[in-house]
Amino acid sequence: MTTNINQIDFKKSLSGEEIAFLIGCSGDNSKALREMAGQKTIEIRGSKVWFRGLIELSNICIKDCFYCGIRKSNTKVPRYNLDDEAIIQAARYAFENRYGSVVLQSGERFDDEFIDRIDKLIKRIKEISDNKIGITLSLGEQTKETYQKWFNSGAHRYLLRVETTSKDLYQKLHPENELHSFERRLEALKALQEVGYQTGSGVMVGLPGQTISDLANDLLFLKEFDIDMVGMGPYIEHEDTPLAKSHQSPYTQEERLKMTLNMIATLRLMMPDINIAASTALQAIDPMGREKAIKCGANIIMPNITPAAERKNYQLYNNKPCIDESADDCLSCLQMRIAFTGRETGLGEWGDSLHFFKKQ
Ligand code: SAM
Ligand code: SF4
Repeated sequence: MTTNINQIDFKKSLSGEEIAFLIGCSGDNSKALREMAGQKTIEIRGSKVWFRGLIELSNICIKDCFYCGIRKSNTKVPRYNLDDEAIIQAARYAFENRYGSVVLQSGERFDDEFIDRIDKLIKRIKEISDNKIGITLSLGEQTKETYQKWFNSGAHRYLLRVETTSKDLYQKLHPENELHSFERRLEALKALQEVGYQTGSGVMVGLPGQTISDLANDLLFLKEFDIDMVGMGPYIEHEDTPLAKSHQSPYTQEERLKMTLNMIATLRLMMPDINIAASTALQAIDPMGREKAIKCGANIIMPNITPAAERKNYQLYNNKPCIDESADDCLSCLQMRIAFTGRETGLGEWGDSLHFFKKQ
């Protein structure tokens, strides 16, 4: 049984048992793990942290994930749908401020009107930035045809978290119907890879019913699935969701923060050339949560550039940070925060996943 990080040979593939030890470790072990991962990031990916300007274009969602604050059945949320001009203006802001990329994120929908609208937006964003801005999508499960259509129009990265790779737990976190099936999620991830996207996935950490061995399996899954980019964040309760009302996480928020940081560090050592995001949810638990993630393996940050008026209605969980700030506040505070970690800001560059190109 592993009881000390010195027992682990990092030159070999890590076993599930070793990964579980690393996720749960504290004190000197955790310090050594995070330092090693921070050094590996700089060695393989360089010192830069790249920006993805996040545009939360709508909180309308046809799905009912039990953990999410904007799930369809939450009638307390005023629904919004940014108009095209507001989205283009946000993308223009990103371009003018030399963010290399934007992320278009929203609740899930797959009606024709939505699909065509996204398609037109992708083309317009390409147009206004003279093809210079990278476009990442985070619009949930779609058909392969839809993924292909958006790819042909200029999107080149896609984020779709698997949420958890324990099928049993996945089913407990979602209603029992076709729309929320675990198999459908995996098929969507496969389709993204087949179309040719740089494919991102990830999980929530510290969910009710989730064990450290589940989390170790999640990291093994990300490696086996040959994922190019990862976003992992702590699960945070939202008071108006069925999950928060019926089940408590077995982990304190402090423990979820620790496990997430250890997971980022462990994954960096397992997959040195991928992109890893410092998720916003880390900051909801610890004001320095994202900086800590950057120090131990993350190299991507996603400043929120959604117009401030709508941000309060995209509350996936309690205490979401930066909901009252304008994009400018976020940019300057982030630049300071990155400098504080001793790293550089990769402004004006796409900052693609090295892993993706090595596979080609
Ligand atoms: N609807 C799309 C989807 O589900 O892929 C994109 C938007 S969704 C809000 C983005 C991510 O938010 C989800 O993949 C999930 O991991 C995260 N999320 C939702 N509720 C959360 C919660 N209570 N705590 C932490 N993360 C949460
Ligand atoms: Fe909708 Fe995504 Fe929230 Fe699920 S996690 S309810 S798909 S916005």
